Amino acid sequence: MQFYFVDGTVSPCCCMVDKSLVKTKKEIKEMLDEKIVPDCCGQCSELVKGEINEKI
Ligand code: SF4
Repeated sequence: MQFYFVDGTVSPCCCMVDKSLVKTKKEIKEMLDEKIVPDCCGQCSELVKGEINEKI
C-alpha cells in the first residue's frame, strides 16, 4: 500500500509526516536490517528503545 502527501509525494508508510525525509521501502528495509533507524522513522512507535519491533 502507498500513502500520499497532499502534493502527491508518495510515502511507503502512513506514519511519516515530513515529506523531505521520505525514503523508499527498499531503502528503509536496508537501513533497518543494518540496525540504523532512518530519519523518516525516528518518531515511530513501532520502534521500541532503538530496537526493531518484530512486527516490522
Ligand atoms: S518504522 Fe515506522 S515510520 Fe518507518 S516505515 Fe515502519 S512503520 Fe513506518
